[in-house]
Amino acid sequence: MQILTKVSGKSKDYLPLLDMINQGVQVKSDSVEKHLANEKLVTFLEQDIEHTGLEKILFHYKQNKEKKIPFLPVDKLISEDEIDDIMQVLKEVLNSGRFTSGPYIPRFEKALAEYLGKKYVIATSSGTDALMISLISAGVHPGDEVILPANSFAATENAVLAIGAVPVYADIDPDTYCLAPSEIEKHITDKTVCILPVHLYGKQADMEAISAIAKQHGLKIIEDGCQAIGSSGLGAFGDGLVLSFNPYKNLGVCGKAGAIATNDEALAEKCMEISYHGFEVGKKNVKRSDYGFNSKIDNLQAAIGLERMKYLSLQNFKRFYLAKRYIDQLQTLEDEGTIKLPKLTDDHVWHLFPIRVIKGDRDELAEQLLELGIETDVYYPILSHQHQTNLVSQKYKQTTLPHTEKAAQQLLHLPLYPGMPLQDQEKVIEGVHHVIKSSFQ
Ligand SMILES: *Cc1c(COP(=O)(O)O)cnc(C)c1O
Repeated sequence: MQILTKVSGKSKDYLPLLDMINQGVQVKSDSVEKHLANEKLVTFLEQDIEHTGLEKILFHYKQNKEKKIPFLPVDKLISEDEIDDIMQVLKEVLNSGRFTSGPYIPRFEKALAEYLGKKYVIATSSGTDALMISLISAGVHPGDEVILPANSFAATENAVLAIGAVPVYADIDPDTYCLAPSEIEKHITDKTVCILPVHLYGKQADMEAISAIAKQHGLKIIEDGCQAIGSSGLGAFGDGLVLSFNPYKNLGVCGKAGAIATNDEALAEKCMEISYHGFEVGKKNVKRSDYGFNSKIDNLQAAIGLERMKYLSLQNFKRFYLAKRYIDQLQTLEDEGTIKLPKLTDDHVWHLFPIRVIKGDRDELAEQLLELGIETDVYYPILSHQHQTNLVSQKYKQTTLPHTEKAAQQLLHLPLYPGMPLQDQEKVIEGVHHVIKSSFQ
């Protein structure tokens, strides 16, 4: 067993932390890195876990009275404790009248910078805006090509399109569902300016290899980390890292928000300008960039972000715990070759839990689970190069991405959110075993 002497609160610690807890080894709360994001993790570790039981402490939810097991119940993505914390700070912000610009923005940016180990953070009005701003600031111009995967949320490609650049889709690694480094080089032309890997479902792409390719060809890297906050080493290789804080993400506000993190001073300054009308930093109404957006985060949302950040490491630990239970308890199905499970790696924060249906039909499994009252979902049902749009029919008819396309037909996502009752998860696991045994074998 690995004994942690220092707990960062990020993904690589979760397995050793769980082992220690299970073996009754006391994890000293002062061994946890001092950070806002770890506040509730510390509170958890200070409890008598051995006596009370880890599951009792982490998952004390009211019994789900309804029969149905929802995929992502929006009213359960925020806890009553969080609401109480937010109500207090809301009162202060409302009284101050400072709803857009205000003091909570630099505080939230500083907390994020410390958490990510980055020099600069620019908090924005959404992850989508953060992508657009960072691409422009990294020097992507209209007509330039950006290499990205085709299996992300539409925001990734839309950010490229919105700034007039050209998305070029490269295939994925079939084990991680993230951009495959070996596929990137095939698509590099003299118009390529930037690589835009997506850390899909909370798992990081192979950034070491991607960064080697970028260096070799003189390309920029903007990382779409919208699903991956809390993953150890996140953003270590890119020029800029983009995050989203919409309420469905691992760290959410109560509305829309996002951020860009970077160590590059010039890039940071440009992002600040582009995120607010092109104005020179620190000057009112004086433009330095040709243009800019109205895309800073609201003071109100920054204040909420700070409150919710206290829960981040603990929430991510809960996600890990649920993911591990899925993996352990569905393992026999993988051994039989009916499904493929994601790997429990050090760089995963389990934004979503994907399984791959190898034997049998994915849609059939989803349908039969639904008959048992279990909701599942597919992320994302239509690939970027297969939408029914004018753009796709004009420019992407020839695009073929075998691994991406195969995965898109086989992937099914099971419910996973920090507040998921364990009884619900047990029903999902039983349901998957039952349907596969009775219909797929
Ligand atoms: C959510 C998400 C975005 C967009 O973030 P918003 O804050 O919703 O604009 C971009 N990329 C990925 C991969 C996402 O999951």
